[in-house]
Amino acid sequence: MDGKIAVYPGSFDPITNGHIDIINRGLRCFDSLVILVGYNPAKSSSSLFTVEERVDMIKELIGENPRIEVDSDSGLIVDYVKKRGAHIILRGLRAMSDFEYEFQMALINRRLNRNIETVFLMTGSRWFYCNSSIIKEASSLGGTVRGLVPDSIFQKLREKYPDMSNG
Ligand code: ADP
Repeated sequence: MDGKIAVYPGSFDPITNGHIDIINRGLRCFDSLVILVGYNPAKSSSSLFTVEERVDMIKELIGENPRIEVDSDSGLIVDYVKKRGAHIILRGLRAMSDFEYEFQMALINRRLNRNIETVFLMTGSRWFYCNSSIIKEASSLGGTVRGLVPDSIFQKLREKYPDMSNG
């Protein structure tokens, strides 16, 4: 990967249209993006999809794009960013409720490595309330999440929650 690389870390459990909006807009700002499925091995039982499933679902969605790479890592984000020779962490911001957590993360990451900057993109207004937890909760209770996630992800959610309405 060449040029200015940004690393977009997250749980992506699963990837939503809100994430995709940030990816598309991130590509307007940076030459290449690494979508990093970050995970904590101690917390793996709380996720719906395994790390491998999440990586595969994102790869399938992205297809062949020389400007995007999908990877996973369980260590410190700043260490991963440094290892990739990058200097930017890309994050998305939705409601004020994101702000406090994102602010803390950006400050601790800056303390850990002053050469790395966190850049925020404001959510697209259509995706303001779209997050992976809400998607999982609604699907598990039988509500449809069509339109909030790509069709391929919708199908994967249906495999987990066969009772989910077709929308
Ligand atoms: P994490 O568990 O690290 O917060 P997520 O997968 O929930 O990971 O989110 C990864 C990043 O994408 C975060 O910066 C989050 O704020 C952002 N994001 C998630 N959903 C949206 C959305 N609907 N609009 C904009 N940014 C979003």
